[in-house]
Amino acid sequence: MRVELPRNYVKKLWRAVIEFELLAEGDRVLVGFSGGKDSSFLLYGLRVLQEHGPFSFELGAVHVDLGFEEPSDVQLLQEYCHRLKVPFDLKKTKIADVAFEQRQENPCSSCAYFRRAVVNETAIVQGYNKVALAHHHDDAVETFLMSQLYSGKVQTFLPKSHLDKSGLTVIRPLVYLREAKIKEFMDTLPFVPMPSRCPLQGKTQRWKVKALIQDLTRENPFVYTNLAAAMRGDGVVELWPPLPSREEMREKHQRVMRPASTKKDDSRRANDLEASGFDFHMQ
Ligand code: SF4
Repeated sequence: MRVELPRNYVKKLWRAVIEFELLAEGDRVLVGFSGGKDSSFLLYGLRVLQEHGPFSFELGAVHVDLGFEEPSDVQLLQEYCHRLKVPFDLKKTKIADVAFEQRQENPCSSCAYFRRAVVNETAIVQGYNKVALAHHHDDAVETFLMSQLYSGKVQTFLPKSHLDKSGLTVIRPLVYLREAKIKEFMDTLPFVPMPSRCPLQGKTQRWKVKALIQDLTRENPFVYTNLAAAMRGDGVVELWPPLPSREEMREKHQRVMRPASTKKDDSRRANDLEASGFDFHMQ
């Protein structure tokens, strides 16, 4: 298959590769290939960079069958990789059983953890130095909001991260591409991405957050771009300091209240204050 992408797509791929130093001469990159539109596009996009870029790197794809009732359409995935001239590997697992057994109402974190572990393990065994994942710009923004809503953390995934234990580098070359643009391009290919086998498709926290952002963006077109801007390190302008420990709070109390406590022992005052309901460690 001849691989070509419109200029605006190539520019966004190279932008990510250059800004975050995702690829280098001689890399061996294993793509986590679910068979959905995003990872199918990632394989295609990396083939374009491989074909038309200034340095050479190797590519491979691994599909992790999660073990849902309906198995993956391996032939479809194999054919796509074959047409792209990318070696294909299949790992059959029972991840779905384990993840749903562990946390029926929210199996996604276990499921994603085990799936990543299988991809990483495959990369190590087969001598790849990088693992490419298909998270795009919308995923980054949704993860950013989800982390705040459900984990109380201001964070999202990084375009590139190094795993100290395994020595692998995880890269996300699609971080500058919007989901709608990926879909738009995939609709032009003679390949129908494999639908997800997961019964939770469309019902997860991520889908709720995606719908929320879409709703808010319909009302105010800047909502999405404002969230994206806040994801940058320089977007954090005013945050409260970290929650002090009980000891730090006692120390602060003694320092702040000292002028008024000349007659009373400081720690006794602190105890009095605590007994009166003052909370040194608000959680
Ligand atoms: S939606 Fe389904 S396949 Fe995706 S992470 Fe959650 S449990 Fe796994």
